[in-house]
Amino acid sequence: MHSSHSTDRVSCPMCKSTQTHELCALKYTDTHVRSFLQTYYKNAIKQSYIQDMHYVIHQCNACGSCYQKEILNSASMELLYGEWISPKNSKKKVVNTQRQIDLARHIGRILLLFPQPNTAHLLDYGMGWGDWCHMAQSFGFSACGIELDQERIDFARSRGIKAYLPDDLPEGPYDFIYLEQVLEHLPEPYEVIQKLVGLLSNNGYIHIGVPNGASVEKAARRNPLSLLKKGPAQPLEHINCFSHKSLITFMKQFDCHPASQKELFLRSKSPRLLLRDSLLMCARLLPPSIFPHKTSLLFQKRT
Ligand SMILES: [Zn+2]
Repeated sequence: MHSSHSTDRVSCPMCKSTQTHELCALKYTDTHVRSFLQTYYKNAIKQSYIQDMHYVIHQCNACGSCYQKEILNSASMELLYGEWISPKNSKKKVVNTQRQIDLARHIGRILLLFPQPNTAHLLDYGMGWGDWCHMAQSFGFSACGIELDQERIDFARSRGIKAYLPDDLPEGPYDFIYLEQVLEHLPEPYEVIQKLVGLLSNNGYIHIGVPNGASVEKAARRNPLSLLKKGPAQPLEHINCFSHKSLITFMKQFDCHPASQKELFLRSKSPRLLLRDSLLMCARLLPPSIFPHKTSLLFQKRT
């Protein structure tokens, strides 16, 4: 059962398996759920949209990922991202100095993969206000972005960025596709990644960053109320949850595998980066309980 503003996912959205099990279920009318939504969205959500909905977390037996079974339908999703989340607040991130430094570092790492940036085509899927594309262009890359919200597209275009709605996406091929904090929001992640991987050049790269959902299974079983916060399984928005392992399993379906860290390592000539990467490579050998295995990964398409 679902409300007129929602839809039920009948199989795992990551691998299509119907072999799934329920971890927890709460009504959206539950005091704790309602209180979280009222505070988080500053009373922007009309009760009529969610009153018949259920916050249900399932886990897939086949791929191990977790997901919200009942999600907003496409019309209500537009309201969520266009109105309920304040566009003004998210725009502030564009002028955040530390964010600009982090972006510059990230694009600098991509330069190790493509030492001649003017020959590489980059795509930011879910570009927001376009700051990643803007930074990539300033490094000499050709970059374009995909976004659902027209206000964000117009803003990006005013900064000289080629920005498109998903249906208008140019065919590519792309050498590097960037999805940062996007995959967890998508109603149909399998279909989107399948399409994007089809647009990647041979041996092209795809960066995926998602919230770390390694603890969601335990939390959902023991105390689902603990998930009612900004986190990997927050209601309405983070509808797909991945651990390090389930993210790799998900991408394997599309012949995408974690890019060789060794290859990146050898291209780096900065002593500081070499030291940092050496420490990280050692830390990754530790168990996840000591060094959390990350869910921000670079994949390479193997053809
Ligand atoms: Zn699955």
